[in-house]
Amino acid sequence: MEFDTIAAISTPMGEGAIAIVRLSGDDAIPIVNRLFKGKGGKELKDVASHTIHYGLLVDPKTEEVAEEVMVSVMKGPRTFTKEDVVEINCHGGIVSVNRVLQLVLNLGARLAEPGEFTKRAFLNGRIDLSQAEAVMDLIRAKTDRAMNVALGQMEGRLSNLIQRLRQEILETLAHVEVNIDYPEYDDVEEMTHNLLLEKASYVRSEIEKLLRTSQQGKILREGLSTVIVGRPNVGKSSLLNSLVHENKAIVTDIPGTTRDVIEEYVNVRGVPLRLLDTAGIRETEDIVERIGVERSRQVLKEADLILLVLNYSDDLTAEDENIFKAVEGMDVIVIVNKTDLPQKINMDRVRELTKGHKLVTTSLLEDVGIDELEESIAALFFDGSIEAGDMTYVSNSRHIALLNQAYNSIDEAINGVENGVPIDIVQIDFTRTWELLGEIIGDSVHESLIDQLFSQFCLGK
Ligand code: GDP
Ligand code: ZN
Repeated sequence: MEFDTIAAISTPMGEGAIAIVRLSGDDAIPIVNRLFKGKGGKELKDVASHTIHYGLLVDPKTEEVAEEVMVSVMKGPRTFTKEDVVEINCHGGIVSVNRVLQLVLNLGARLAEPGEFTKRAFLNGRIDLSQAEAVMDLIRAKTDRAMNVALGQMEGRLSNLIQRLRQEILETLAHVEVNIDYPEYDDVEEMTHNLLLEKASYVRSEIEKLLRTSQQGKILREGLSTVIVGRPNVGKSSLLNSLVHENKAIVTDIPGTTRDVIEEYVNVRGVPLRLLDTAGIRETEDIVERIGVERSRQVLKEADLILLVLNYSDDLTAEDENIFKAVEGMDVIVIVNKTDLPQKINMDRVRELTKGHKLVTTSLLEDVGIDELEESIAALFFDGSIEAGDMTYVSNSRHIALLNQAYNSIDEAINGVENGVPIDIVQIDFTRTWELLGEIIGDSVHESLIDQLFSQFCLGK
């Protein structure tokens, strides 16, 4: 494919020791070559691929030195985009990095759109769509586990699995064609029937397995959305603060669907908690009070985890009981706080209300019980057993939606075979499954979807 040469600042904006301006395209090397003055008149267009060079950038208009740089030259196709790539390492200030960018733009490079480097890697066949999406996940990963999942996907673990399933479907369809073409054999009908049933069941069970990982995969990727509820003064803010202080809190600003929303993540034993509406909780103390009962029920419904806080040194009230009702059927951990004070709460009643949920007692003031609480959160999520290691997780909602559709169409095919539906109808469901799986790796996706996906990337990626 033929593309123009793009350029962007590939490191975060702000002050740092170094910043990188990256170029990709046929003119990447000639453009930087015109700016670069190396020791002894070294020309970048003559250097070997995958080498780095110290020198100065000189503005060809003013002939003034613009910046002192290290330049990496990487010739396609052994690069991320498969095109010629040049990375200019310059000083990390906003002025210097913009000056370098401006110089290369003046010489004909075009400012890259967000995600355009990765998009080129995809369009040039270096990676498939699910791998491109993994690059984005990798940048945004908030825990080691999430990062491992993204790495696995980037290496093509999910792609390989999907490709294997598609191959199975294709071979089955080919087999069926052959059977139809040679109807002179007596048992052809039964053979076709059995073959279809066997293959379809296999594909369905594999899709089902993948879908079973999606809940955890999604949580690893997006965080376990967590709401702390309880009456005023029971210790909700204290709990929030303990969780944040004991763990690394990560504040992210995610472009795309949740543009401009600042989210707070806390890494609890490898489980990223996304503290829902944190700012709101902090500012006004009480989420129910702030947004009204109806809305707060809605927020509660969307939560993956509820931390329900009670006061050990106070009687249970009707309000406490109502909160239990509001979170019925959800994943709840009940926290009885302020155990350093004299007991007033009726623990038998608390246990009744808690039913099958986990119950933890804490004194946040004296730092007691937080460990147990964190263990309970991790256990709830990982079932105590699963280590992310070798699993292929599906974590991306686009993939999950496609897998669900693929599951339905292969299920339809199985029903068809079992109920004696004509083969050509069953073939349609088979083909549909094949197409849907293809969309995951970008085989049959619409161009507008591709644009939309890549636009969610950060600039310079
Ligand atoms: P919220 O209204 O539910 O957010 O409760 P806060 O976290 O603001 O806590 C209310 C008060 O209880 C504050 O004065 C806290 O210092 C205090 N508090 C929180 N946890 C404990 C605890 O475990 N023991 C004691 N004695 N006081 C606590
Ligand atoms: Zn509070």
